[in-house]
Amino acid sequence: MSRTVTKPSAPAPKQMGPKGRDPIFDELGFTTDPDNLYLQTVGVMLHAADLIGLPHRVKIILTQPQSEIMVHFPVKMDDGHHRLFKGYRVQHNNAIGPYKGGIRYHPDVHLDDVKSLALLMTFKCSLVRIPFGGGKGGIKCDPRAMSQEEVMRVTRRFVSAIYHYIGPDYDIPAPDVNTNAQIMAWFADTYSSLAESNKNSWDAMRVVTGKPVEVGGSLGREKATGQGVVDVLVEMLPAMGITIEGMKYSVIGFGNVGSWTGRILQKLGARCVAVMDHTGSIRNDSGIDCEALAQHVAKAGGVGGFEKVKAATGAGKKNGSGATAISTEEFYKTAVDVCIPAALEQMIKEKEASWLNCKVVAEGANAPTTPAGDRVLAKRGIEVLPAILCNAGGVTVSYFEWIQNKACESWDVERVDKELNRHMVMAARRTILARQKYECDTRTAAYIAALDNIAKVYAVRGIFP
Ligand code: NAD
Repeated sequence: MSRTVTKPSAPAPKQMGPKGRDPIFDELGFTTDPDNLYLQTVGVMLHAADLIGLPHRVKIILTQPQSEIMVHFPVKMDDGHHRLFKGYRVQHNNAIGPYKGGIRYHPDVHLDDVKSLALLMTFKCSLVRIPFGGGKGGIKCDPRAMSQEEVMRVTRRFVSAIYHYIGPDYDIPAPDVNTNAQIMAWFADTYSSLAESNKNSWDAMRVVTGKPVEVGGSLGREKATGQGVVDVLVEMLPAMGITIEGMKYSVIGFGNVGSWTGRILQKLGARCVAVMDHTGSIRNDSGIDCEALAQHVAKAGGVGGFEKVKAATGAGKKNGSGATAISTEEFYKTAVDVCIPAALEQMIKEKEASWLNCKVVAEGANAPTTPAGDRVLAKRGIEVLPAILCNAGGVTVSYFEWIQNKACESWDVERVDKELNRHMVMAARRTILARQKYECDTRTAAYIAALDNIAKVYAVRGIFP
């Protein structure tokens, strides 16, 4: 399909503020710390906004979240003592629809990181054209050091602290790092027990997505983010001279996103040659069996030790012959066609970007590449497929779950996968068109394709009063 793309006239050169950066940062009192994730995330957005001439009034609205909710709450631990926890819910923007975004449990959860992730959600939902805005939340805690009972009590107590600020048509959380369907079930159950405005308690279960299928979860939601990464790769790689069958890939993080991306790519005939997570790194040039590795991670809590398990059980034979433990540096330097970061933010900085030996980075995780890392990758000719495009599959199927709940329907997995694929392919095509039109990198193009939609919404809604 060929389409004529009208090139826009070049934007006027930008006047920088006294600190040599976008004047909006000074106008809104932003930090000057270049490593601050929120500063980095907004910087990318403002660059795209300038290219399309976004009005200043919309730029300032999008530069700060609409609400930042921070709560402290006590929880009784198994040994009888009480611990105070800190939780966040950031609501970035709801011009297009209710706030939407995951809840993360991690010791490193900070307000500015949650703000960044909330902003990414606004852009992700807009890029795939689902009627949601952006939100994100988290609890500063280490669930790996807690019992299931403690995780449940922390979850329920957190919901009791924030339930006034969320709702099935207002702000709808979902799973993220270290949270899962079980935690969403406790979340929804607590909300539906507390929220006075939801007499019909079943409808209140819509307050979260990513629920177990037994309580209104959607078929295909658990694998959705990984499936979406693969849909984008299938759509975009051929133009870069890479075919999925026989393609070599590596994965950073083997949790929900990493393991599903790995398993689905394996089914399509691609070969996983290296995996890294918080417990170690492994490699096998003739292929790591992602199914066997997922079983190992479910039991052991990480990829570390997979080489020993293989020796004992033969697991991993299907796709290769087990794996060898390697260093972090060796992991990054492993030759692959595509590297898929699917763990945490800011993992590909300048050093890691200079180590990578791949043609494409497909961001399964949110914000895994820093601006400095991006510059190194660009200089080395490595293409980056950005998170707001690649990992939008999770929120897209969350939207399907939400509308199934609203309509009292249950879709089969074929319908979910087909609808997901349609959204992902259209988002990829929007990004490619913006890249051609503005002659920019793919990350900026994805932001432009998302911003274009948000700008139209503000143009017709106006700004109250
Ligand atoms: P998860 O908790 O299931 O998995 C996280 C993975 O990161 C684990 O394998 C863990 O070992 C690894 N990890 C943690 N610290 C690490 C380190 N220092 N080095 C290497 N690996 C490390 O989380 P997830 O849901 O798979 O989320 C992963 C990323 O994808 C996050 O950025 C998240 O925001 C994003 N994301 C998730 C979803 C979703 O539906 N779950 C949707 C969109 C985006």
